[in-house]
Amino acid sequence: KFKKKWATTLPKIPCSRLALQYFDMNYSMQFGDLWPSIRISLLTEQKYGALVNNFSHKETVLKNLSAFNAKDFISEAQHVISLLQIQNNLDTSEKMTSGEASLNLVGQKNNAEKTQATNLLSSLSNTKLTCFKFSRGDISRFPQSRSDSFGLLEYYLMDAASLLPVLALDVQHGHSVLDLCAAPGGKTLALLQTENCQYLAANDLSTSRSSRLHRVLRSYVPRAQRTEHKVCITSQDGRLWGDAEANTYDRVLVDVPCTTDRHSLLEEENNIFHRIRTKQRQMLPLLQAELLVAGLRAVRPGGEVVYSTCSLSQLQNECVVERAVELAASDHGVHVKPQDLSCFREVFKNTFNFFQGCRVGELVLPHLTANFGPMFFCKLLRIE
Ligand code: SAM
Repeated sequence: KFKKKWATTLPKIPCSRLALQYFDMNYSMQFGDLWPSIRISLLTEQKYGALVNNFSHKETVLKNLSAFNAKDFISEAQHVISLLQIQNNLDTSEKMTSGEASLNLVGQKNNAEKTQATNLLSSLSNTKLTCFKFSRGDISRFPQSRSDSFGLLEYYLMDAASLLPVLALDVQHGHSVLDLCAAPGGKTLALLQTENCQYLAANDLSTSRSSRLHRVLRSYVPRAQRTEHKVCITSQDGRLWGDAEANTYDRVLVDVPCTTDRHSLLEEENNIFHRIRTKQRQMLPLLQAELLVAGLRAVRPGGEVVYSTCSLSQLQNECVVERAVELAASDHGVHVKPQDLSCFREVFKNTFNFFQGCRVGELVLPHLTANFGPMFFCKLLRIE
């Protein structure tokens, strides 16, 4: 007996081609006229940012990176914030003399949103994070980082848009923070670079990816900054966190597994569009919602959670947030409110290209002149 011939001769369509077909079908509906521009950008080499390692010889690193003609996009945003604040003060004093209600920093909002935006922008003005990028349209690349005389690497290359969820999380001095899906560790490293975490729990289900996280932290963070009292790395199913450590953390980052759109279009290896992973791909929104619910339960009342993906899919972004908010309330009595992050669109518009049409959260769209993202992020405040 021999196997049927069709089993071996069935045409093998590359996973990346399947991903493109799927995206063409779904994203052309979701983004309409914007899709051709996003599509060509996704298929073109992405841009990186260089996150400066504050634990290395920072002055030297800053000098070296500036020599490449690259700029720190966070200090550029801080400059925009100062200008907005000056503008806001002028507007406020004019309105007060004419008796009208004052405008807020970025567009007209209610008082609660105005306070949130003001607090977030003031934290952004004080953040210790520094990340260099090349200007719009400049497609230069950073060389691989070197070790300094302490043996620590000088900067970490990452999609600069990946810093936005970390900045949105707004970790304050003394906070205890949970990074629920942490490996390979770009955002964990950025959280430590804020130098605000009193305690950081970094978890990832995959043991092999957790080893990469260990390696990243060893290469960038001095031993004294990652003792067991300061950083704890675990390898568990994040969905269990709601039961294991309910009402515990000040801040939780839920950077979930997703269709990793850019990777799926360019790499065959470990591609979620492989036929044998169809079921896993279809179950992603459920897994994402369960992870987000666990994060919402793990944060203390008054604490904040940021949900993020590197996918454009509305089903994995806004729909997951909306579903998780419902589930947290109905199944666990945990009530949360999505927070307005539109001020990010204003202060980071020189670096990133934002989508204007999200119901909740913000989405960075890849663009040929600013080829970062996709990156969706949404912040949720736990009320009770
Ligand atoms: N935050 C990481 C970073 O910035 O480098 C990237 C995280 S990646 C988008 C998603 C991660 O979720 C993967 O490393 C994957 O192993 C992990 N993951 C998948 N299922 C999980 C689960 N049930 N619990 C915890 N982690 C999970």
